[in-house]
Amino acid sequence: MRLEAFAWTDAGPVRDNNEDSFMVDEDAGVFIVADGMGGHAAGEVASRLAVEVIRGLLMETLDPDETRLERDVSDPADQLRERLRYAMNQSSVRIRKEAQRNPAYTGMGTTVCVLMFDSDQAHLAHVGDSRIYLLREGELTRLTRDHTVVQQEIDAGRLTPEMARQMPHRNYLTQSVGYHGPVEPDTSTRPVLPGDVFVMCSDGLTDPLDDEQIRDICVRTYVTDLPETLVREALAAGGEDNVTVITVCVRED
Ligand code: CA
Repeated sequence: MRLEAFAWTDAGPVRDNNEDSFMVDEDAGVFIVADGMGGHAAGEVASRLAVEVIRGLLMETLDPDETRLERDVSDPADQLRERLRYAMNQSSVRIRKEAQRNPAYTGMGTTVCVLMFDSDQAHLAHVGDSRIYLLREGELTRLTRDHTVVQQEIDAGRLTPEMARQMPHRNYLTQSVGYHGPVEPDTSTRPVLPGDVFVMCSDGLTDPLDDEQIRDICVRTYVTDLPETLVREALAAGGEDNVTVITVCVRED
């Protein structure tokens, strides 16, 4: 299988900087979206640091004694998810150190979602409310569960997803990389099929558009244009935040 990826980002109509960062590496099969937060451009610094640190740790050969990784884990998929967890936590440490060093960066943090391919499997890890969806045969499935206060309220039956979208505190995160210190990313592994399209995005997409609207845009848009079209539709629907979308298409060799 072969991967083909497309990406688009836009600062949106209100902010003069873009605090989203992303990374696309088709050869390595690694894709990252991070949505930073914090005043005075600190969000930009946090999301960029997260992408840099995670990218580095996923690419390099790690010393198992130093990282305590891969010691007691024999399954390769488990090892990869351990490595994703480790990389997320190392990036959290790095962001906190940077914030301690520079008072302008106090309190900065970032969401992170990572998609990593290995033979015919996809490994996912995320912290925060940036999302990964799978478009397969016209069906759009959300593969990540937001780390937000409203998602907890939905899970507890106190809010419907529709009500949650209207809540003023809908963006409050229960976890973020950097700000919250040690993080417990959700990780998963799933088989991939030729024709699958993975959609990764920041909440600049999912605030103005619901899953049904995103699905409708996905099925009527040629895949090479999809990130740009999704970003434009989010802004046309009143989106004011930075918006980032990556699509990763799984092709037959
Ligand atoms: Ca955002």
